[in-house]
Amino acid sequence: MTATLIDMRPAAEPAAAPERPSLIGLDRAGLGAALAAAGVPERQVRMRVAQLWHWLYVRGAAGFEAMTNVSKPLREALAERYTLARPEIVAEQVSADGTRKWLLRFPARGAGRPVDIETVYIPEEGRGTLCVSSQVGCTLTCSFCHTGTQKLVRNLTAEEIVAQVLVARDRLGDFPDAATPAGAIVPAEGRFVSNVVMMGMGEPLYNFDNVRQGLAVVADGEGLALSKRRITLSTSGVVPMIPKAGAEIGSMLAISLHAVRDELRDELVPINKKWPIAELLDACRAYPGLSNARRITFEYVMLKGVNDSLADARELVRLLKGIPAKINLIPFNPWPGSAYACSDWEQIETFADVVNRAGYASPIRTPRGRDILAACGQLKSASERMRKVEREALAQA
Ligand code: SF4
Repeated sequence: MTATLIDMRPAAEPAAAPERPSLIGLDRAGLGAALAAAGVPERQVRMRVAQLWHWLYVRGAAGFEAMTNVSKPLREALAERYTLARPEIVAEQVSADGTRKWLLRFPARGAGRPVDIETVYIPEEGRGTLCVSSQVGCTLTCSFCHTGTQKLVRNLTAEEIVAQVLVARDRLGDFPDAATPAGAIVPAEGRFVSNVVMMGMGEPLYNFDNVRQGLAVVADGEGLALSKRRITLSTSGVVPMIPKAGAEIGSMLAISLHAVRDELRDELVPINKKWPIAELLDACRAYPGLSNARRITFEYVMLKGVNDSLADARELVRLLKGIPAKINLIPFNPWPGSAYACSDWEQIETFADVVNRAGYASPIRTPRGRDILAACGQLKSASERMRKVEREALAQA
C-alpha cells in the first residue's frame, strides 16, 4: 500500500468569512445565550441546550435539518442565524501506515485572510490519537520544528479547536451516521478517536482561554466525552501558565524538553532563555494531581550527535528525580532545510535503556506517516508553495 493524497480543494476561491456565527465550541452558557437570542423562551433554554448538545457532539450533526426532535420553526430560526458548518478540508493525506493528515481551512476572523492548519490522526493498537493544533503558525522558534519556521498568524478559536475533532470523527466514520472510508486503519474496537493531544501547530498555553474552552467541550461527559486522562496538553515550557493549566484545564501534561542542559535547550527550545530547565521542572513537580497514575510525559526528540549521548541520558534521569514521569523518545522526522539528522537506531535504544533502568517508562515513538510530510507544518508549507505556483501560472496566462 502506498500513501495517497486526496486534494479536496474546490475550484473556487478560498472560503469567504461566514455571515453567520457558529454554535460549535460554545460552552453551555454561550449556547443558551445563542438560543435565547434566536427566540427560545427562557424556560426552555436548558432543555434546548441539552438537545443541541446531543445533536452536535453525540450525533455529529453538521446542519440543523437533522435535528428531528427540534420543531421545524426553531430549526429554521437557528439556521437563519447560525451555522454548524465544518471547515473546508483542503487536503487529506493517508499514509501507508494509516496515519491521516488533514489541511483544514478556516474562514478569516475579522480582518485577515482564511487560514490553514493541520490535524493528524494516528491509529494504533487499541486507540486512535488525534493531534490538534492551537495556533496558526507559532511565535516560538524551536530549531528542530518545522512549524517554528512559520510566523504566528493568529490564535485558533474554541470553535476551531473543537472543529478539528469533529472533522476527524466525520472523516473516520466515528459518528453514528458517518461512514468509515473503505480500507481506513482504525482501532478494531472502541472509539476511533480515543485520545486528543494538543501537540499540533502552536503553543497551547499562549492561547489559554480558547484551549481551555475547546477542551472543556471535548471532555464534556454528555457530548464528545473524552476523559481528561485521555487529553494531553503539550507545552514548550510556559512556566507561569502551568499551574493555571492544571487547575483550570486538568488534562494530562506533556513537556517538550528535548535537552538536559540550558545551553543546548536555549538553542533547541528558545523559550528556555526565559524559563530555564530548573524552573520548568519546579512547575512540573507542583502540577496539580501529579501521581504515579497521572504522570507527566517528557518529549525528547532524538537528534544525532546533539542531545543523544549517554551522559545526556544519565542527566535526564537525574533531573527528573522525584517527578512521576514517562519519557517519550521521538526519532527526529527530518524536513527540507532542517539542520538536524535523526539519531541512529542503536543509539536511541541505548539511550532508552539508561532511562528504563532508572525506572522510567521510555517508549520510543514509532515513526509514523513518514511518507506523507508528517513533520508538523509541512503540509501547510507544501500547500502554500502549490498556491504560489498556481498564482504564478495564472499571472503568466
Ligand atoms: S515545537 Fe511547538 S512551540 Fe516549538 S516552534 Fe514548534 S509548534 Fe511552536
